[in-house]
Amino acid sequence: MPEKFAPLYVVPTPLGNLADISERARAVLREVVWVAAEDTRHSAPFLTYLGSRARLMAAHEHNERAAAEQVLARLAAGEAVALISDAGTPGISDPGARIVAHVRAAGVKVIPLPGPCAAATALSASGLEDAHWLFYGFLPAKPGQRQKALMEVATLPHALVFYEAPHRVLESVGDMVATLGAERTLVIARELTKQFESIHSLPLGAAAEWLAADPMRQKGEFVLIVSGAPVASDTHAAERILKLLLAENLPVKQAAKLAAAITGVAKNALYARALEWRR
Ligand code: SAM
Repeated sequence: MPEKFAPLYVVPTPLGNLADISERARAVLREVVWVAAEDTRHSAPFLTYLGSRARLMAAHEHNERAAAEQVLARLAAGEAVALISDAGTPGISDPGARIVAHVRAAGVKVIPLPGPCAAATALSASGLEDAHWLFYGFLPAKPGQRQKALMEVATLPHALVFYEAPHRVLESVGDMVATLGAERTLVIARELTKQFESIHSLPLGAAAEWLAADPMRQKGEFVLIVSGAPVASDTHAAERILKLLLAENLPVKQAAKLAAAITGVAKNALYARALEWRR
């Protein structure tokens, strides 16, 4: 990396509550020469609020390629740049990836700061116990494509995290019921960190009625999280296999050993179960 290159900082900004800016993010935004912002008009008052005198350049989805060149040119001149989006973490359902890729491909240092992200904020209060989650972001706006996209993830045993616009929430929830089933838990996280923040969990099948019951419930910004597809219980499968083997007159010990080897369920547990049935 050439000596004189300055680094690119990737800086998350608050989702709504300005107090959520980190000390480090504030310091970086005050120190850099340039801020590359998704919407310069939106970010100008925020930088003033922070006491930053950085110069603004536009970096949105329609000019990202040109913006990437511009950012690299500033870094080459030894002027540090901070990349921000309108809210949350750049590059997460927001522009930024192309700029970061271009800067890293040139061997120039990219320094990411941790900070606000609607998906992580919603997950932290979801109460869902799924061990894994899949960040989907925005579903397609067209119903046919949306249903197809949902079908592709319908059998995953992971919580699914979606971003959704208020005017599409009802439609999307309808498609989720049709493709993922009515039984799974839906967490509706709305207006996080803002005055009318609300986090509500309910079965997917009850969500449309709940949303329609009060027009306020369809207003603002949404994260929708659906619990993962239920996994057919391994124990259940192991016991079915065990029963079949016993019906073939295999000795209990051998049947338990085989059922355990096939399913991965503990041999001793299956042996005890078989003895119970025998009694
Ligand atoms: N980069 C952002 C992040 O790190 O979360 C996301 C940007 S994306 C263009 C905007 C979407 O994020 C909104 O449509 C909504 O789904 C979600 N979102 C942003 N702020 C939110 C908030 N305060 N409460 C709930 N969802 C929010």
